[in-house]
Amino acid sequence: MAVPDRFGLLPAGPLLLTTEETRLLWAFVHGDIMDAAVRSWQRASLGFCPRHTWAYAVVEIELWEAGVGGRGGHQPFDVCVLYEDLSRTLSDRLGRPRGWGRRAEAALVPSRRCYLCSQLAGTPREGFALGYANSNSAALAAEANLLRHTRRWCAATAEEWLPSACPDCLGGPVSGADDGGVPLCRLHLAEAVRAGAEDEAATAARLAEARERLASIAQRLAALARSMTAAGAAADARTEASWIEALGFFGGWQFPAYLAGIPASGAP
Ligand SMILES: [Zn+2]
Ligand SMILES: [Zn+2]
Repeated sequence: MAVPDRFGLLPAGPLLLTTEETRLLWAFVHGDIMDAAVRSWQRASLGFCPRHTWAYAVVEIELWEAGVGGRGGHQPFDVCVLYEDLSRTLSDRLGRPRGWGRRAEAALVPSRRCYLCSQLAGTPREGFALGYANSNSAALAAEANLLRHTRRWCAATAEEWLPSACPDCLGGPVSGADDGGVPLCRLHLAEAVRAGAEDEAATAARLAEARERLASIAQRLAALARSMTAAGAAADARTEASWIEALGFFGGWQFPAYLAGIPASGAP
């Protein structure tokens, strides 16, 4: 039996969404994101838990068929809007002069529970729960679980995002104290900062790398979102990969690597 990951990261494998997860995420894509209270919850929870980070993108990309811009649909527009905000917010937090060390570690750890996990833990609905606009959530879950469009995105942009993928997530050589330039995901970065608390220079280098990476991701997410609007210019390959870089940073990298057919290296 596989050992459960200590961060709750997704295992390398397909993501089988439940009907209820699909129903709640489909409703989220259709409006919750516009709610100011939900947005401030997302800033406190640093997005969703690893499972729902990727589930959110899967639901939007697989199920949203008719969009604007060159692609027309099956694109992560909502995801770009939310993660541009989260990437910029976290980059700014890590850049505060007094933000190093223990305070920076705190900025990398959610202060609130995943919004979806919290909804799932609420009172179960009696009987048949209707989805957004009376949609059939079971049929939508079956459709989303095929992962057709998400797989295509992850595979087509792998060359662009792979250099930014966290080696600790992908089972590569686990980063050491002097690997300040290695692009760790949020979860492994928080752990590295905690482990190297007494080495201020190494911690500062890691946090500076993450801060710059997040600022660059936020810029590209804004450009990608524009490419999905009526007047927006087409996005280049690096920009197309930006949403995967963002979700990989916030929720770990096993899932896109699995979809792109990249084997975990160095795993026992
Ligand atoms: Zn969750
Ligand atoms: Zn990682």
